[in-house]
Amino acid sequence: MQKVAINWFRKDLRLHDNPSLDYLSKLSIPIINIFIWDDEESTEKPLGGATKVWLYHSLHDLNKQLGNKLMVLSGKAENIYVDLLKKYQIKAISWNRCYEPWRIKRDKSLKKFLETQNIQVRSFNGSLLWEPWNILKKDSTPYKVYSPFFKRGCLDSAPPRQPTKKPKTLNLLDFENKKSAIDDLKLVPSQSWAKIIPRKWNISGSGANEKKNIFFNSKIFKYKNGRNFPSMNSVSGLSPYINWGQISVNELWYKCQDLLKTKKQNVDILHFLSELGWREFSYNLLYHFPQININNFQKKFDNFPWINSESLIKKWQKGETGYPIVDAGMKELRTTGYMHNRVRMIVGSFLVKNLLVDWRRGEEWFWDNLFDADMANNSAGWQWVGGSGADAAPYFRIFNPITQGQKFDPEGGYTRHFLPVLSKLPSKFLFNPWDAPTDMREQASVFLGKNYPYPIVDVKDSRQKALEAFKSL
Ligand SMILES: Cc1cc2nc3c(=O)[nH]c(=O)nc-3n(C[C@H](O)[C@H](O)[C@H](O)COP(=O)(O)OP(=O)(O)OC[C@H]3O[C@@H](n4cnc5c(N)ncnc54)[C@H](O)[C@@H]3O)c2cc1C
Repeated sequence: MQKVAINWFRKDLRLHDNPSLDYLSKLSIPIINIFIWDDEESTEKPLGGATKVWLYHSLHDLNKQLGNKLMVLSGKAENIYVDLLKKYQIKAISWNRCYEPWRIKRDKSLKKFLETQNIQVRSFNGSLLWEPWNILKKDSTPYKVYSPFFKRGCLDSAPPRQPTKKPKTLNLLDFENKKSAIDDLKLVPSQSWAKIIPRKWNISGSGANEKKNIFFNSKIFKYKNGRNFPSMNSVSGLSPYINWGQISVNELWYKCQDLLKTKKQNVDILHFLSELGWREFSYNLLYHFPQININNFQKKFDNFPWINSESLIKKWQKGETGYPIVDAGMKELRTTGYMHNRVRMIVGSFLVKNLLVDWRRGEEWFWDNLFDADMANNSAGWQWVGGSGADAAPYFRIFNPITQGQKFDPEGGYTRHFLPVLSKLPSKFLFNPWDAPTDMREQASVFLGKNYPYPIVDVKDSRQKALEAFKSL
């Protein structure tokens, strides 16, 4: 039997800058590229609905790039490998590492098992700039504060791996591929949103490249300030592509380093790098504190008297809180599978602090609805917003949804776009329509309680309640 190597695609769905594929391409034996739908093995939460839809389109695209030679399998990874070992003479297996706690545990035991079968097993870093176990404080404990983590921990360490191009030749094993293998995974639910929303994105390697080019050609030069204003559209929009590895963070890092050669100390480029640093920080936290996606990082929050009103949670989910910037954000999420970072912070603060809802309920909703749903970033983001995380926003910092809207969407472009019902309301009252004179509202066709809700809570009272609850800890 012919000797073969197996490249296991996971969250690295690209052919360029893929350390595992690079390594195998140099072994001079045919490669079988596989993807295993292994969600059933997760001892944590299964993947959310939106990100599964993203995965579906990404797998089709990857299969196309591989000339229909992506072997798509489903089940427990160890069982799959046992079957493959019966069919092929496998010399080497390799993959790029993932950092979800269940995957780390599973991969370790799988590696041991495969090695007992006399297979050369290798794993690589394909999705982080620095491995979490290499970035530790002088006393060998993990960082809990972002600034020293990034400045001292990351930037003072050896620079990240240089990205590589797609291997010049890929010797792929010819095998009979099952046409419907990706569709058989049933990643796409029957709801209409699963068909409509993906059309707003180009979910493919070329889509990632296109977004990257648009960002680096212009948007990045107004990133530092522009990233606060959702209607300025000066963020990259790359997060779902980064999440599934259609683009690598090493590529982005070194693209910035190239730009910095001519634009020394450019604050926008440096700021973008620091946001990639926040991603590293989230992964570092998840690696060293694997419970952060389930438990409060700060234990004192375990006694927080959450109210968790189901009817208020529903209104928040549907974007019917009566606070326009919050509602616009929740509509953006439902209609695009994405939400701007500034608005994620506003809707998060509103849920946890004004509605006194446990951050885990918000995290769950984002997990199910975001195309970029990422265990590390989502749990770190929610714990940051809720005040219970490492280096989190202090609990008493409660975003006021009216002034946040006025400050970060001053012309109302973002809010009017996602809430067309308010589109004719003058900016002065866009974020507090109940204060507008009745005839002004009528002229703008805004009828409170009919086509747009009254506020579901009073911001001042709810803020006071939150502060009292916090003091009780
Ligand atoms: C409550 C909450 C939940 C979040 N959930 C997720 C999530 O599930 N998945 C996710 O990728 N991000 C999450 N974030 C972080 C951030 O909002 C998104 O990464 C960002 O909005 C993605 O848009 P972008 O690619 O245009 O970002 P850009 O501003 O263009 O940033 C580029 C990249 O840097 C990284 N990045 C930027 N900001 C952050 C941040 N604050 N924390 C960590 N990494 C960051 C992301 O990989 C992002 O794609 C969350 C933030 C909050 C407040």
